[in-house]
Amino acid sequence: MSFRNTVLAITAILLTANLAAHAQRLSANVHPEHYSLSLTPDLLTATFSGEETIDVTLDAPAQTITLNAAEIEFQSVRAIISDFSPKIQVAEVALDPVKEQATFTFGRELPAAKFSLAIRFSGILNNKLRGFYLSKTKLRNYAVTQFESTDARRAFPCFDEPALKATFDISLTVDAADTVISNTNLIDAHSGPVAGKHTLRFATTPKMSTYLVAFLVGDFKCTEGKSDGVPIRACSTPDKVQLTKFALESAKYVLHYYDNYFGIKYPMPKLDMVALPDFEAGAMENFGCITYRETDLLTDLKTGDIPAKKRVAVVVAHEMAHQWFGDMVTMQWWDNLWLNEGFATWMETKPVAEWRPEWNFTQDDAQTLDDTLNLDAQRTTRTIRATANTPDEINEMFDGIAYGKAGAVIGMVENYLGKETFRQGVHNYLQAHLYANATAEDFWNAQTANSHQPVDKIMASFITQPGVPLLTFSERKATGVPVEQSRFFLSATASDQNQQDQRWTVPVCLKTSAAPVCRILTPEDSTIPIPVDLALPAFYANAAAKGYYRALYSPLQYQAIVAKAETALTPPEKINLLGDRWALVRSGLGKVGDYLDLVLALKQDPNATVLDSVHQQLQKVSSEIATDQDRARLDAIIRREFGPVYAALGAPAKDESYDRQQLRGILFEMLGEAHDPTTLAKAQMLAVRVFAADNKKDKTLDPTLSDAAVLVSAADGNAALYEKLLAVSQNSANPGEKSDALRALPRFHDPVLIQRTLDYVAAGKIRNQDSGAVLDVLLRHRETRDQAWDYIRANWDKVHAQLTVSSGTDLVAATGNFCSVQQREEVSGFFATHPVEASKRALAKAVDGINDCVQLRSLQQPDLNYWLERNAN
Ligand SMILES: [Zn+2]
Repeated sequence: MSFRNTVLAITAILLTANLAAHAQRLSANVHPEHYSLSLTPDLLTATFSGEETIDVTLDAPAQTITLNAAEIEFQSVRAIISDFSPKIQVAEVALDPVKEQATFTFGRELPAAKFSLAIRFSGILNNKLRGFYLSKTKLRNYAVTQFESTDARRAFPCFDEPALKATFDISLTVDAADTVISNTNLIDAHSGPVAGKHTLRFATTPKMSTYLVAFLVGDFKCTEGKSDGVPIRACSTPDKVQLTKFALESAKYVLHYYDNYFGIKYPMPKLDMVALPDFEAGAMENFGCITYRETDLLTDLKTGDIPAKKRVAVVVAHEMAHQWFGDMVTMQWWDNLWLNEGFATWMETKPVAEWRPEWNFTQDDAQTLDDTLNLDAQRTTRTIRATANTPDEINEMFDGIAYGKAGAVIGMVENYLGKETFRQGVHNYLQAHLYANATAEDFWNAQTANSHQPVDKIMASFITQPGVPLLTFSERKATGVPVEQSRFFLSATASDQNQQDQRWTVPVCLKTSAAPVCRILTPEDSTIPIPVDLALPAFYANAAAKGYYRALYSPLQYQAIVAKAETALTPPEKINLLGDRWALVRSGLGKVGDYLDLVLALKQDPNATVLDSVHQQLQKVSSEIATDQDRARLDAIIRREFGPVYAALGAPAKDESYDRQQLRGILFEMLGEAHDPTTLAKAQMLAVRVFAADNKKDKTLDPTLSDAAVLVSAADGNAALYEKLLAVSQNSANPGEKSDALRALPRFHDPVLIQRTLDYVAAGKIRNQDSGAVLDVLLRHRETRDQAWDYIRANWDKVHAQLTVSSGTDLVAATGNFCSVQQREEVSGFFATHPVEASKRALAKAVDGINDCVQLRSLQQPDLNYWLERNAN
């Protein structure tokens, strides 16, 4: 699956294995081999009926068979066994709604043999965005599926575990005017069985896991193309089909790229990508039939802006990587979810960066790494591989650790081995497990065997231990640069000494005045050997910013780095340096004043992503450390220092680089947030032009600057501007535009307008998939937080009813932005009596985050005050 980018899922404490949970696993005695599945959904009554036969093998004689089913009613269950008497055995069905299982008990013991289970059942098309569910537009209903992780069992009784792979024959009976899209190609369509219906039958699938099955019913329209001989379609509801062309172009490029990269051809007869009006995740990699939320697939090929195109291309590349990594070769169990998600996350920018080099993915990757290091430096982080048995525990695995950390560790290993060696290892691993399952060990053993490097030791140390290494360097000695390892915490509280003593096997690449020096640092090593003729102290400890660690230097080494940062470091390295120094401030190992000196040293940097990191970190200094008085002085310094940088960029010019446009937008937002009067006036003026009826003709309007202007204006915006954004969020035909407008609504600071947004969410006027993101923005910002928190508690039943599983988790996680002891007590107290599904870890992390913020303020505020005084003029 793919995350929604707007809310970095923030969760995680160590899961403890629990014996009752183990009981939810199915017996190893039964193996499904083939499903023949026929379904008849009724989109008006929101129900469906189904018939299936499951060909199974029983290893040892048994009188009962248990499989998964949830919200399913059974009409009949029979076993059909040749050479057995009687040939047909009827079963009694017992349901266990808690375990989401059904147990079939037969009149006599069944033999160890191959036979078929014939099942008739019915179920509901729910509105919870999981299983077989209803997705609605103003015009009609659609019946669609989302099965990962454990919801195939809501659509048909099945052995719903990733290792229980089988082949599938799927057919659906639907309205004659509707179509169905499923995993494989359509092989038969005929009218009936009743008037007004037709039955569509699909080719047999390869062996695959149940969570990757999909069937989508409605009046979808598609754009068609081909790549390496594989037919590709990008589809949507009929009104949006003109927005599918860009995704199709992306997929054509990516499919050819992956065919070459993996050295294994795309495995399905076709690829469909379908945008669904209601969709919980970003996208889902169903084998041959990828589903998306509309904003992650649809954008205009000609007029779509670059951030929207980047998002679509990256999500397409992520889901397509899963067709090999996840779909063809699947993790044995959910504890190794990182094998799917870490790999797809690492891979998702690779083909797109080759396709569109000007989109600066190396800088995005450095920023993602920095976010992940911060997430993993919380006390409540988890190991990449963690126990998960119940559906709630499994759902909580889809977090920044399984995606971001696993992706970063894979990237670090690739950087150390070299691209081609790593690629060959990937090929060997996939080739050895085609249409089967694999574990972490299978992956790193394949890489170790191919490279003759200790990949197994490196990966094991990062996959099975939580947290981030801190490398502390001292002045060079004759033998090399002395270095010590410890575990880094994003908090100044003294942590458990055992945890601090943690050690890793970590590839370290020092950037020097000559070629980079890359060495594996083992838990026993205390020096990085370097050539004797190498001029030091100038080295940077994370060449190319691919290493998964934080670095702390001696004062002399750090001075040498800052002196050369502007010219000697690449943009990803500068992002990494800023990230390291800001993290050290939060941990108490650095001072906020020194960090702000670095910001001023890099203020002229021409790379947008470097300035974007500065912007985000300054927002935190302002909201988490500064008092009201400090904030006014910090704003004045931001205006004084960054005003001239913005002015020097001049007006937007035709054919300007993407990076320069972004840079202008970021500086404009920074100055607006710092209450620069000229910027505020310009923002108002631009916002008026953006919403002028004929703005499509206004070619002089720069899109990046317009977006920044709308956000800046919203902060002190009035009801008139709010109305305009609300109208766009409701009526725009472009999903990206609609979603941007929706996300601007919680940026208004006027209490009356905050109340309107909250009422709007509570009344269910926003699609459930988006309500979490809106609440997240309200809770994240200091200016809107208190009012939103009061409202959510006072109207909990209404708000809670609007949340899906993941938006509920996001809501709990967002309270981690609070910064007072009182609010911490309120958060723990409130969620203890108002529990939110799959949010245990999110709550622990939120409390952790609040504690860190409280501590950060008391620790760094005096130094901020001192720095502001020194830099006042
Ligand atoms: Zn994924």
